[in-house]
Amino acid sequence: TLQDRLGGILDKLRGRGALSEADVSEAMREVRRALLEADVALEVVRTFVDKVKERAVGVEVVKSVTPGQMVVKIVHDTLVETLGSEADPISLAAAAPVPILMVGLQGSGKTTTTAKIARRLATREKRKVLMASLDTRRPAAMEQLATLGRQVEVEVLPIVAGQSAVQIANRAMQAARLGGYDVVMLDTAGRTTVDEALMAEVADVRRATNPHEVLLVADALTGQDAVNTARAFDTALGITGIVLTRVDGDGRGGAALSMRAVTGKPIKLLGTGEKVDALEDFSPQRLAGRILGMGDVVALVERAAAEIDHEKAAQAAEKMRKGQFDLEDLRGQLDQMSRMGGMSGMMSLMPGMAQMKKQMAGANLDDSLLKRQKAIIDSMTRSERRNPDLLKASRKKRIAAGSGTKVEEVNRLLKMHRQMADVMKMLGKGKRGPLAGLGAA
Ligand code: GDP
Ligand code: MG
Repeated sequence: TLQDRLGGILDKLRGRGALSEADVSEAMREVRRALLEADVALEVVRTFVDKVKERAVGVEVVKSVTPGQMVVKIVHDTLVETLGSEADPISLAAAAPVPILMVGLQGSGKTTTTAKIARRLATREKRKVLMASLDTRRPAAMEQLATLGRQVEVEVLPIVAGQSAVQIANRAMQAARLGGYDVVMLDTAGRTTVDEALMAEVADVRRATNPHEVLLVADALTGQDAVNTARAFDTALGITGIVLTRVDGDGRGGAALSMRAVTGKPIKLLGTGEKVDALEDFSPQRLAGRILGMGDVVALVERAAAEIDHEKAAQAAEKMRKGQFDLEDLRGQLDQMSRMGGMSGMMSLMPGMAQMKKQMAGANLDDSLLKRQKAIIDSMTRSERRNPDLLKASRKKRIAAGSGTKVEEVNRLLKMHRQMADVMKMLGKGKRGPLAGLGAA
């Protein structure tokens, strides 16, 4: 996998601080090869690699991961971002009946996908859906949609011989308006290659129906051609999204990256088989993982980055020991506490805190308290945080107003800080650091 290969190159650099230009360039050769093996189009590989390189050079390698793993994480994050970061479902946010136009090359899976989507909208979202075949050249194609309609129990517009694609589309919209349908799925004809007559016909249908979604159905196995197909359809028709089919036959996912990168349009769904229920939501994370074949590296790097928080906690402990624990440090501790399950969970981990916890039992030891306490500290000036002795009545009033709390609450926080600082100092005279238990939490 890419992970192994990058490891081989970069692991000898272990211990060095930041990723250098030379290290990254060498790693990028492997990234480039992995992407090409995943069938990503060459032009997309180039821009992608440049982007990763720009990001990676100078990045600090966090402790306990290798430079190779660090690069893989950057590649992964850039992949996810390029793929769209979040799932982007089909939108029905328009006046009913909402037209959805299905376009693409012949054999890409348009008719099958039309039925899959119709089924999903009908069953999951309880929409009343009408399907219509605009494939006037092949009577068998119309029959195919009718058969699928019976199978998924979705209405199909009756076939009328001799009508043009635009006429059928208009008839479908009319029938949907009269019949109170929510969605109209328009399945168009395709050619084996992109040609002008096909594009002109679909463009006419688009003008006539003003579809809310224009979905390009594309075969994941098309590899390098994916870019040209996506660009041609997007330029001619202005697609709103992409459905990638036959993903079951190609786990590499390069076409998805290529198409998304050249059109900027979201991958909305994946076709994963011939059956009508073989339709999945697209997940950028999952696909990025698949392209790199790198398993757990991302999680590993994230864990390692979290370790840095522990180091910060240790630094805070050291300051406490020396009696330099100010409100900025407390702010950092509160943040850490929210992340680690709230204050009561936290306090039970800290030696010397049991007493204080008892004292504070009256107050709500919950997240909202933590939030208010952070707001109080955030409402202070920097010098106030560094030197709490500055906080006399008028300042406290200002801070209470600024944080939406009461002066008593400000006082309570200051008292807590004083007690913490005292306890820390006291414990600090012993061997154990006050937050020694924290790292293991
Ligand atoms: P169209 O010409 O674009 O309408 O394509 P069709 O919907 O007729 O599909 C062509 C062939 O591809 C049919 O045999 C489908 O069963 C098959 N097909 C469509 N989608 C998928 C998919 O996601 N996976 C697999 N394995 N086959 C698919
Ligand atoms: Mg078809």
